[in-house]
Amino acid sequence: MTLETTAMNTNPTERHDVIVIGAGQSGLAAAHHLARRGVDFVVLESNQRIGDQWRRRYESLRLYSPARYDALPGLPFPLAPNAFPTGLQMADYLESYADHFDLPVRTGTTVDALRAAGAGDGFVAVAGDRTYEAAQVVVAGGFFTRPHVPEFAAELDPEIRQLHADDYRTPSQLADGPVLVVGLSHSGSDLAMEAVTHGHPTTISGTGHGQLPFSVDSRAGRLAWPVLRFVAWNVLTLKTPIGRKMAAKMRAGGPPLVRYRRGELLKAGVNLIDARVTGVRDGRPLLADGRTLDVANVIWCTGFRPDYRWIQLPILDADGFPEQARGVATSVPGLYFLGVLFQFSFTSMLIVGAGRDAAYVVERIAARAAAAAQPAQRVQASVS
Ligand SMILES: Cc1cc2nc3c(=O)[nH]c(=O)nc-3n(C[C@H](O)[C@H](O)[C@H](O)COP(=O)(O)OP(=O)(O)OC[C@H]3O[C@@H](n4cnc5c(N)ncnc54)[C@H](O)[C@@H]3O)c2cc1C
Repeated sequence: MTLETTAMNTNPTERHDVIVIGAGQSGLAAAHHLARRGVDFVVLESNQRIGDQWRRRYESLRLYSPARYDALPGLPFPLAPNAFPTGLQMADYLESYADHFDLPVRTGTTVDALRAAGAGDGFVAVAGDRTYEAAQVVVAGGFFTRPHVPEFAAELDPEIRQLHADDYRTPSQLADGPVLVVGLSHSGSDLAMEAVTHGHPTTISGTGHGQLPFSVDSRAGRLAWPVLRFVAWNVLTLKTPIGRKMAAKMRAGGPPLVRYRRGELLKAGVNLIDARVTGVRDGRPLLADGRTLDVANVIWCTGFRPDYRWIQLPILDADGFPEQARGVATSVPGLYFLGVLFQFSFTSMLIVGAGRDAAYVVERIAARAAAAAQPAQRVQASVS
């Protein structure tokens, strides 16, 4: 690491070979591989504590992947292999991972802008009044980061309590009375289950994106996990036709239900309506079939969108997804992504896949650094 100040600017510019932005599972896995190769790097992380993105998620969150598939390279998850960690346990695991490997993570450091360095190769990351420079940068700031709510939500009667799943923590945030969950997703099914078990008449609107033939909580689910993991890791990759088909489907929609599926929801008393919420009439949510619903609460489980506005480089395709091949930015040499939806395989969005994707990206980083160092080494050799 080097530090430099100029007469104009008393805040030092810190230089490293590599900057990693984000210390979630993706950024920490990259950090682990960089450290093993002896690369000079730093990880910049917005949160005051590593893992806070998991601590902020709803309190009842239980992962759908068992602990044996929730570990990053080199450090087992400290729970029984078949146990499902809570969000808090996942947060603490990430924090302990950085401690265990003594990874150089700067918490409380939000990168507001990433741009090309003025002259020659490399990048400048601006975080408040601090500046970081590096020849190569890994963007691991999470993929689906901007909660999406349809515009017509603003027309709902102000008496109806509405919130996005991202802002939901506990059932105490709900008003007395019926709950409408918009979106039959993982979080949609989790939150509907929580609402109905807390006495709220609960409806989910939406058809979802299919479901596993068994719940991950069942005995069949426990037995099937190794098979699911094998398929998601080896078969559902961008190298296979079925994987590419699945990637397109995931990009347009979302993953299947794995814990609370239609059967479990119906059994608990949740009312499932296939018709989507398409607007608002007289202040009430309006369904595609023309009905309106008289509810006291709406929880929008309508997903997230990527948000790369802080990257001032030509990285996005027409759909707002980063243009990359297995994490290597295709139009900006030296820039890399991790945690992108189906970056290489189905597992790219899962904890279990973070280590493999990071290893690949770090290998590309090392190869590029070695290639850049070669001419200099040749000059040195010819001088001596
Ligand atoms: C409710 C829920 C449950 C899930 N359950 C599971 C599960 O059971 N099993 C599973 O495998 N996966 C699960 N996932 C999916 C996935 O593992 C997580 O979404 C995971 O958090 C993604 O990891 P990541 O490192 O790519 O991004 P994140 O965890 O989002 O980490 C990104 C980090 O980057 C930081 N950051 C972002 N922008 C900046 C910036 N500009 N400057 C500095 N820092 C920045 C953020 O603060 C954050 O710490 C779940 C996701 C959700 C939402």
